[in-house]
Amino acid sequence: MSELPPPLNPPVRLLMGPGPSEIHPRVLRALAANTVGHLDPYYLSLMSDMQGMLRTLFRTQNPMTMAISATGSAGMESTVVNLIEPGDSMIVCVNGVFGERMVDVAGRAGANVTRVDRPWGEVFEPSHLKEALAKAKPKVVGIVMAETSTGALQPLDEISNLVHDAGALFLVDAVTALGGMPVEVDKWKIDAIYSGSQKCLSCPPGLAPASFSPAALEVVLQRKTKVQSWYLDVSMLAKYWGQERVYHHTGPINMTYGLYEALRIILEEGQEQAFERHASNHRALKAGLAAIGIRYASNEAHTLPMLNAVHIPDGIDDMKVRGALLNRFGIEIGGGLGAYKGKVWRVGLMGHGSRQGNVLAFLGALEQLLAEQGHKFEHGASIAAANAEYAGPKSR
Ligand SMILES: *Cc1c(COP(=O)(O)O)cnc(C)c1O
Repeated sequence: MSELPPPLNPPVRLLMGPGPSEIHPRVLRALAANTVGHLDPYYLSLMSDMQGMLRTLFRTQNPMTMAISATGSAGMESTVVNLIEPGDSMIVCVNGVFGERMVDVAGRAGANVTRVDRPWGEVFEPSHLKEALAKAKPKVVGIVMAETSTGALQPLDEISNLVHDAGALFLVDAVTALGGMPVEVDKWKIDAIYSGSQKCLSCPPGLAPASFSPAALEVVLQRKTKVQSWYLDVSMLAKYWGQERVYHHTGPINMTYGLYEALRIILEEGQEQAFERHASNHRALKAGLAAIGIRYASNEAHTLPMLNAVHIPDGIDDMKVRGALLNRFGIEIGGGLGAYKGKVWRVGLMGHGSRQGNVLAFLGALEQLLAEQGHKFEHGASIAAANAEYAGPKSR
């Protein structure tokens, strides 16, 4: 190398995409705190307290609740590879990119995968699964609660009953859901669940909260074959995260500081308050977008509060709008994935980023860019509609 690369100086962005979300300044400060050893008594007690906060947020008593040292996808791998042995039958519900990813992960783990498909933007009713459950006699059924590629919210309660009646374990992806809406692990009888630190928890990417029910853990302990992944083997991780605290891998100490602080922030605000804040900013954004003729991509009855996937209006250039949002306004939103590529925008209102100021800043910038591209609408209408939504029914 002839010259030293430039000093680190990342631009300041408003992160309003599908994740990473805007990081709370207190979380950034926590990440910079001095590193202790990974078996230091201070760190061990931090791990325990973090597990306690995760149980509160997951609404579970599961002792095996922890954070996998990797991103959300590793959370997915950890649940699948521990429960599946080669040749086991698994049903995966697919209505977007992340269900598709779970099919791939399950196949690689040696599962005999039955996929049940729904159109993108739609969700699963129990009736959609009955036939597959009878035919496949699965050991595990996997489903995505908040499908970040389509913005669809999957109800879980009834499907869980059906899955358990069929004698299967219920595996749930709550990467985008956790922190932005209630995730009831015990009430919905979820056996294995995972999330990610960079969506509604407003922490940088790098940790995947996960929880295994006692029944799921028993299945892992009764396996005939070793778990395919050494790193993600829950029977070994249980010793690291359990009473024994046996060294397994070096815990990502400063990331743990970050997630610890992020969880404290949510519990300080109060879960119900945080969920209501997500719902209210979602309603305001939705009202604003409707006022300028922008429709949601997913079924209106099942839109997520934290991820707004919307149709790009006809004649509008996707890349131009997203490029200008980033370069002129410092706002990042997401484009469409897979079948939605070039067709939808994904606007995240996640965690600390779910704020009135962000909703209004985004609508203001978007109106300007749409006007420049000749989209016909009443200028200012989206901001007025969003503000009216915030003001409540009396103002209308
Ligand atoms: C983001 C996401 C993932 C993957 O998480 P990574 O942190 O990107 O590995 C999995 N499932 C859903 C629903 C997601 O939104």
